[in-house]
Amino acid sequence: MVEKVPHWADLAAEEILRLKGNKNVVATGITPSGPIHLGNLREILTGDALYRALKEKGSEVEFIYIADTFDPLRKVYPFLPESYAEHVGKPICEIPDPEGCHENYAEHFLEPFLDAIKVLGIEPKVIKAHESYKNGLYTEIIDLTLENNEKITEILNEIAGRNLEKNFVPLLPKCEKCGRLNTTSIISFDTSKHQVEYQCKCGHTGIADYSKGEAKLPWRLDWPGRWKIFGVTVEPFGKDHATTGGSYDTGKVITKEIFGYEPPYPFVYEWIYLKGKGAMSSSKGIAISINEILEILPPSWVRYLILRYKPDKHIDFDPVNGYILLAEDYERLERIYYRLEGTEEEWAELARVYELSQVKEVPKEPGPQVPLRHLITLAQISLGNSELLKEMLVRSGYEKELSKFDEILKRVEYVNNWLQKFAPSQVKFKLQEEVPEIVKSFSPKEKEFLKKLSEKIKERDWQGDELQNFIYTLAQEYEIEGKRAFQLIYLAFLNQTSGPRAGYFLVSLPKDFVVKRLEEAGTL
Ligand SMILES: [Zn+2]
Ligand SMILES: [Zn+2]
Repeated sequence: MVEKVPHWADLAAEEILRLKGNKNVVATGITPSGPIHLGNLREILTGDALYRALKEKGSEVEFIYIADTFDPLRKVYPFLPESYAEHVGKPICEIPDPEGCHENYAEHFLEPFLDAIKVLGIEPKVIKAHESYKNGLYTEIIDLTLENNEKITEILNEIAGRNLEKNFVPLLPKCEKCGRLNTTSIISFDTSKHQVEYQCKCGHTGIADYSKGEAKLPWRLDWPGRWKIFGVTVEPFGKDHATTGGSYDTGKVITKEIFGYEPPYPFVYEWIYLKGKGAMSSSKGIAISINEILEILPPSWVRYLILRYKPDKHIDFDPVNGYILLAEDYERLERIYYRLEGTEEEWAELARVYELSQVKEVPKEPGPQVPLRHLITLAQISLGNSELLKEMLVRSGYEKELSKFDEILKRVEYVNNWLQKFAPSQVKFKLQEEVPEIVKSFSPKEKEFLKKLSEKIKERDWQGDELQNFIYTLAQEYEIEGKRAFQLIYLAFLNQTSGPRAGYFLVSLPKDFVVKRLEEAGTL
């Protein structure tokens, strides 16, 4: 019995236990200011993997997700109506839902995200930032911030290269008149009353009580503040926060020197790029939302897509041409895990990533062993007719898998969604009900070849790979190039020059139909 090779999350967990001890809080945070995309998923999935690995090693560990619902709207994003210009600067929990279906803007983007991560088996404790502020969780941290504003200013100037005035006060009171956070400046503060006096650009002057959620810390203070408030010991974050002089650099000094708390174990991850478009970003409109991904892939495959790579590797996601490759990688992983193929060494190498990719416990047996590539073909022939799908599965040698037919149907649903939204034209086809006109242009020799193929198929039952090879051999006999031979078949059935692997395709179809079509194409 070989030992499983540790996954990167296992190695990190060991180091965390050594550095931070047995009690841990893994924190993640995302601002629900737009559709939460696959790139954001890396943050929470990295956190989930660390959480699971720590738990398996016996750590007393909690997993939290802080939704930055109190962040101001930064600009009118491409997906927002122009009228949202008036809301820029207001907290997203106090702006109306752009589609009117939720209580507020933040909820509109938060809810589908929480639904999606649940499907992925990720269930952190969800903390909404605006509630933490309202409930006074930040009061002590803000007291410390105000009392030490000069020292904090020095830290920010020195480490982040800022050019802040000595009397700078890093706190954003919310204007009670116009509701904005980023238009106010502080005139004076009184930590004994937890109050600040402010002046807003709208002309209003007022008093904000920060123990009641009437002010927000800017990110550089908010982040280290929450480490102490929630006892965070581990936090994955994107490389933008990890730059020299970035918010982790200033945060770790501020938390130690001002708040008296040790910074969490940092876990920096790289971006996910959308093939040919760039790093995913909702604000730039380059993104696939997590919910869209879950329409085309089973959740464990989505987990695998991210967890297979070390966090410092950037991921190129190609939903068009990378889809089948991802499926084939996962299918092979699964077969190795259940020892249906591969060596013991491969098993040891891949076992942990398979386990961590599962939504819940590792299933007792593998999923249906019908390659997704084949389902892409069958889905386009059966067109929603599940009886026909069953028949084709039997004909193409997958009778044994019918016990998992419900799962197969689910896969076909993913495939259909993919065909509709992302599939490249070369994998799409439509079975022609009548013999296409184009067959009339075939040469006499080509027609003879098709007639012969028809006879041979009629003679007996074929396996997909066997027929595939036979088509090559027969083409040679007729001195037709392999490529042309397949073209003839595709043209006769699909009226196009390419298509799915012909051997598998033909054995999936009703035999009478195939025989008749080839015969006709050879005669017309
Ligand atoms: Zn809504
Ligand atoms: Zn104002």
